[in-house]
Amino acid sequence: MMVVVNPLKCTGCAFCVPVCPNRAISSLGLAEIDKDRCVACLECLDFCPVTALGRGKNRKEPHGS
Ligand code: SF4
Ligand code: SF4
Repeated sequence: MMVVVNPLKCTGCAFCVPVCPNRAISSLGLAEIDKDRCVACLECLDFCPVTALGRGKNRKEPHGS
């Protein structure tokens, strides 16, 4: 499990970038999660003003819903 970014919601504000203790989030335009770094602590979820961050599920869709 990891965190995923909903590209339809993300505004690229980068508020979430400094929140991650593992530096798993980068923002060049839209936020991106480095799945090798994300430990799914979920700390970033509450910081996104547009709820673009969510829990990924083991489904076919890469971005969940
Ligand atoms: S869930 Fe935790 S480790 Fe993963 S991107 Fe968010 S703050 Fe970083
Ligand atoms: S806080 Fe939310 S809207 Fe802003 S860059 Fe991160 S995921 Fe995108």
